[in-house]
Amino acid sequence: MSESLLEVKSLKKYYPINKSFFNKAQGFVKAVDDITFSVNKGETFGLVGESGCGKSTTGRSLLRLIEPTAGEIWFEGQDITKLSMEEMRKRRREMQIVFQDPFSSLDPRNTVQRILEEPLIVHGVGNAKERRAAVERLADVVGLAKVHLQRYPHQFSGGQRQRIGIARALALQPKLIIADEPVSALDVSIQSQVINLMQDLQSEFGLTYIFIAHDLSVVKHICDRVAVMYLGRIVEITDKDKLYSHPLHPYTQALLSAVPEPDPDIRKERIILQGEVPSPSNAPVGCAFNTRCPRVMDVCRNLRPALLETEPGHLTACHLYEGEVKTLLA
Ligand code: ADP
Ligand code: MG
Repeated sequence: MSESLLEVKSLKKYYPINKSFFNKAQGFVKAVDDITFSVNKGETFGLVGESGCGKSTTGRSLLRLIEPTAGEIWFEGQDITKLSMEEMRKRRREMQIVFQDPFSSLDPRNTVQRILEEPLIVHGVGNAKERRAAVERLADVVGLAKVHLQRYPHQFSGGQRQRIGIARALALQPKLIIADEPVSALDVSIQSQVINLMQDLQSEFGLTYIFIAHDLSVVKHICDRVAVMYLGRIVEITDKDKLYSHPLHPYTQALLSAVPEPDPDIRKERIILQGEVPSPSNAPVGCAFNTRCPRVMDVCRNLRPALLETEPGHLTACHLYEGEVKTLLA
């Protein structure tokens, strides 16, 4: 039985929609709408779904970089949603984030030396000499040379900038790193280098990752388990092998059918989803996927399906499988 590092319970993030400055909220963008999952120590947990489904909002809410509307976030047995801002700031040493765009997330006016030293200064780690040594070590583990430390972010390629972003996240020796589409902005040829680096660092430092991606091909190489999101909700969670070989949710099946198959002898049928993703300010009643689901039933238009264990270690939020769960429980 693996030990969990993070347990997220019924997390919600609603953004109020204001028609004008003085009006009360006209409604809400339900960016994250009641999601529950846990992440085990040392694993890489993938969070996957189309653009706009709430992945970044989830990642940032977990660190309270944005305040969740509701829900609990248990990190090492403590509900961090209850912490004061000052307590949270201290706790954040152990929980770091790597952003998608390594350029806009690095201050262009600072040298790499300064960028990597800053978290150490903010958290009062070491004296100037010790910090300099720590920064050199950090550069080394992510494959940057000592001469690079005196340069500015714009003097680096995208892949190197992401190495700087990763080094900065490692500076305080965190337990958890949330990587929000860390390779999406990089050339395909560089993506695997950065992913390999992240995997090496994970085994070297015993890190736990939440790895956010908008398509399933990237997570295939790095994740142990994957959660699939649609319109602010989690529709399926299982280990990577099961997800790829035996997806249960019709949305996951459609996403997977769009992943290119490298073996030309394997013909697979592409499932084309009808219609657009609905707005998160006006999600369909019942199952959020019902307007596009090729297997929609009446119940899907009325009742939101719960995320249930449809097979051992395989959670699915879909009415298609609820009969099976009931007979298992009976
Ligand atoms: P993803 O990372 O999966 O692309 P996001 O978490 O960035 O998705 O966004 C989820 C939804 O929340 C989107 O519809 C987005 O427009 C909306 N959203 C994100 N941030 C804000 C905000 N500050 N105010 C209002 N709506 C927001
Ligand atoms: Mg995002």
